[in-house]
Amino acid sequence: MNIKLKIRKGDTVEVVTGKEVDKGKRAEVIRVLPKTNRLVVQGVNIRKRHQRATQQGGRQVSASIVEFEGPLSISNVMLVCPACSKPARVGFKRDDKGVAHRVCKNCGKDID
Ligand SMILES: [Zn+2]
Repeated sequence: MNIKLKIRKGDTVEVVTGKEVDKGKRAEVIRVLPKTNRLVVQGVNIRKRHQRATQQGGRQVSASIVEFEGPLSISNVMLVCPACSKPARVGFKRDDKGVAHRVCKNCGKDID
């Protein structure tokens, strides 16, 4: 696991910038794409894909609109600290064993 990643899958984040409809939303991170510095957040950046009617293995699949979450930039969200429940700037701290933990810069509590 890359310890430099401030936001991980399963974290709750708040959308601080981006589309008007998404701003202020708090939701869980469902996927992190570290190579592109993007992530996918539950219910944020909803996109629609029109699926045409097709034949799949002899089965008729009717046309439909599929909604899915598009990735957004990591810089558009802030991690919500589980201790103070505010959008937090994240720091890192090593414990006695040399293991890095994420720390909330608001309240100073460990996040991990
Ligand atoms: Zn905090």
